[in-house]
Amino acid sequence: MSDKLLHWIDNEQVDSADGASVTTHSPVTGEPMTTLASGGEREVSLAVAAASAAAPLWRNTDAKQRGRLLHALSVAIRENSQSLADDEIAETGKPRSTALSEIANSADYFEYYAALVHLPAGEVINTKATEHTFTIREPIGVVAVITPWNVPLNQAARACAPALAAGNTVVIKPAEVTSRTTIRLAKLMGEVGIPAGVFNVVLGKGSVAGDALVRQDAVRKVAFTGSVGVGRLIGKIAADRIIPVTLELGGKSANIVFADADLDAAASETVRAFTSNAGQVCSAGTRLLVQSSIREEFLAKVVEQARTLSLGSDVGPLITRDQYLKVQEHLNLAPTEHAETLLGGIGATSDNAVGNYIPPTIYATQNSNSRIATEEIFGPVLVAITFESDEEAIRITNDSDYGLIAGVWTRDISRALTVARSLEVGQVFVNTWSTGAVETPFGGVKESGYGREKGIEALHHYTQLKCVVIATV
Ligand code: NAD
Repeated sequence: MSDKLLHWIDNEQVDSADGASVTTHSPVTGEPMTTLASGGEREVSLAVAAASAAAPLWRNTDAKQRGRLLHALSVAIRENSQSLADDEIAETGKPRSTALSEIANSADYFEYYAALVHLPAGEVINTKATEHTFTIREPIGVVAVITPWNVPLNQAARACAPALAAGNTVVIKPAEVTSRTTIRLAKLMGEVGIPAGVFNVVLGKGSVAGDALVRQDAVRKVAFTGSVGVGRLIGKIAADRIIPVTLELGGKSANIVFADADLDAAASETVRAFTSNAGQVCSAGTRLLVQSSIREEFLAKVVEQARTLSLGSDVGPLITRDQYLKVQEHLNLAPTEHAETLLGGIGATSDNAVGNYIPPTIYATQNSNSRIATEEIFGPVLVAITFESDEEAIRITNDSDYGLIAGVWTRDISRALTVARSLEVGQVFVNTWSTGAVETPFGGVKESGYGREKGIEALHHYTQLKCVVIATV
């Protein structure tokens, strides 16, 4: 039997008609790892046809029954969490604790949306005494989901759980380097009794399979998580086809630490914010804004904590050699932009290293417009900038193409509220950093994207509203 990972269409494994495949490499050893089928137009059409055929059955399945199946799936994910983690660790090299918590969080999505299946209802609208008017929230149809490689199963669950709960069927295209757990998810769906065709997976390259998927006539909504560049391409196709799209893109999120904050708590969360998943998180806190009066004391705490992290057990590798080289490019840039290296940096990496590890790196700069201070690096790299006043902290934070999340550290509740309201971001965390809760709406403003995943808002993004007016006399 071949070890090749195959597409999953209509509850069956399917190879590419032309036998095309891609082989990925371990981010830890550089050795070849997974060979997967590489899909094209034919496989995408098959998957979309299966999802279209399954759509009437799934949308007409009692909401309660859909909920039971999605809940059963959350149980199955928890029961299989160790082996799902094994697959994610093999592909990403991430620490086991990180993989396990992301998988538990994936189960949370299905559990949460299983409980909300009755929610996409509608409302009665008071028009005239001679009319009965109401709205219905209906599924949109076939939803295309395209996911990145940084949090593979979790990103799939985040989009697919509300899409399925709302009665849509799905075709998903995972990132080629992390396809295993999306296929495992599809198999678990079959095992718990979710009907064939409701969830289909096409593997392969984004520019081929992903592009073909978004262009399929029967695809009525796209949920994309990934880079700004690809988001822009997909947004254009969706605009051309006049279909709704949710774009969850990048970030350069700021943690703002005021002098009156609990500095120990702020320091450990600042470190977590930029080193979790080796900084390969869209909402990573990679800009640190520190008030000038506590600059030395606070930076010393952050550097001291980040220095204790071990490569491998605390900070995993970057996903591919290309990503490693991209981060190195930014590390090379830092001295040319006159940033002060407080930890790590280009001297701490090697071109010949086995494994794509970059040690936690911290720079200090007053040039908040430099490339290292403005561009998303997607590695464990923090850039610290000093500010004097609340207004200056707000101005620097908002002076960004991105607007995903921000942290505010202060004991002054009025300041916390004023700053939170002034920040141009999708979510603000005060005296904590991103909690990952499935219940809270998540998404960006500006180039961080539009639309919201998570929470009740996501369910609404996977429905369309119909209004019915009945003349009663
Ligand atoms: P990417 O945009 O290169 O790829 C994302 C997905 O899109 C992959 O499945 C890829 O195969 C596919 N794709 C690539 N080209 C395509 C095309 N032309 N048409 C259709 N699909 C295509 O991003 P990446 O490198 O996988 O992920 C890193 C980026 O994702 C970062 O910028 C990061 O900030 C962002 N991200 C955002 C979030 C969020 O929720 N906002 C979460 C994770 C990652």
